[in-house]
Amino acid sequence: MAVDFKVIVIGRGMMGAAAARHLSAMIEGVALIGPREPAERKSHHGVFASHYDEARITRTFDDNVIWATLAARSLDRYAEIEARSGIPFFTEAGCLFAGPAPQPGQGFLGRALDVAATLDIDVEMLDPSTLRERFPQFSLNESFQGYFEKRRAGHVNPRALVQAQVALAETGGVSVIDETVTSVRDAGAHVEVSVSDRVYTAERVLVAAGGFTNFNGLIPSPADISVAARTVVFYELAERELELFGEMPSSVVFGDRDEDHVYILPPVRYPDGKTYLKLGGDTEAHRFDRLEDAGAWFRSDGNPAEREQLVALASNLMPALSGCPVTAAPCVATFTRTALPYVGYTDSPRIALLTGGNFVAAKSSDELGRLGAVVMTQGWLGEEDFGRELTPVLR
Ligand SMILES: Cc1cc2nc3c(=O)[nH]c(=O)nc-3n(C[C@H](O)[C@H](O)[C@H](O)COP(=O)(O)OP(=O)(O)OC[C@H]3O[C@@H](n4cnc5c(N)ncnc54)[C@H](O)[C@@H]3O)c2cc1C
Repeated sequence: MAVDFKVIVIGRGMMGAAAARHLSAMIEGVALIGPREPAERKSHHGVFASHYDEARITRTFDDNVIWATLAARSLDRYAEIEARSGIPFFTEAGCLFAGPAPQPGQGFLGRALDVAATLDIDVEMLDPSTLRERFPQFSLNESFQGYFEKRRAGHVNPRALVQAQVALAETGGVSVIDETVTSVRDAGAHVEVSVSDRVYTAERVLVAAGGFTNFNGLIPSPADISVAARTVVFYELAERELELFGEMPSSVVFGDRDEDHVYILPPVRYPDGKTYLKLGGDTEAHRFDRLEDAGAWFRSDGNPAEREQLVALASNLMPALSGCPVTAAPCVATFTRTALPYVGYTDSPRIALLTGGNFVAAKSSDELGRLGAVVMTQGWLGEEDFGRELTPVLR
């Protein structure tokens, strides 16, 4: 039977858009199916994405060599994607980690220093007094050490990165279809992908639907993922705070307790014309197993208790923010059993998965997209592409 497409990628998000771009350079007959960002989040009753924002931290300093490699390979291509698409998305503001001095090889910082040595990542170590002198924006514990990645680190604009990937995919011949998929069926020799009013057929399908991967019958059996609520807070900055915080890097601060862990994005201009500094943490109010619950979360203003906790952390860490208007927003993080992304086939030899950002994949999405494209064209990932480690775990 003649099929409509060789490959259909489901999900016009960070990984799916990247996969479509890479596929466009490898084969003809590719479609990318997924809805664009809803115009009105609070009245939208469909699927959502975890990239509806203007800033995500990018860095290679990481406590896991695979994540660090995925980030490094993506960073290698940022400039080329920007130049070819004409869409800038990377700001090289640097990335600072601060926290209690680690034991060698232990905790995030101890492991990350080992990975940095293995991969030769350029990280400057700052003793407590140098750290406080160099980054006066923060009121840090006097014993905290700093680890600063000045180059090849900072933040990406996830909306702009997706836009650049989709533009290049389209230029490369990919058919972009603005629809939500309602079911996927392995029909034996091909796959049927249903949208509102029709069915598309393809030889193979790559499901890159982020936190919505287990909904809408996209894969034959559910992926072993946990979709967790995350709340972020935005501080609206005026001139005075902009002067103070304008030059800061992306930052991650660890505390003595897990709940004191916070990440901070430097001031970024948002589509409403205002400039916000964003903070998020690691605690979560809920996990979602049903589409209705995930949708309701995305229509909310996040979790009030988490918002208060983040505001309290911010007041300690950046007292100069006090008095700035604060808003909160919801998002979801998709955690896998392996803590690594899933890139590989499901029970069906025609339907593969590309998901599991584990809260850190925006920066690495281009390489993850390439791996998804390799799975679609070659059928498997080799050792150099972490094929064994990235094998999906199904429930
Ligand atoms: C608050 C927050 C902060 C984060 N901060 C960072 C950070 O600082 N640095 C970093 O590297 N990462 C960060 N991340 C993680 C990063 O944003 C995600 O890992 C990344 O967005 C995952 O990409 P994805 O393509 O898997 O999912 P998404 O970007 O969510 O894309 C999934 C796409 O699938 C589509 N879709 C879903 N269901 C269907 C369907 N049935 N039919 C068609 N399309 C469908 C959706 O519309 C969406 O566009 C953060 C995440 C959150 C929530």
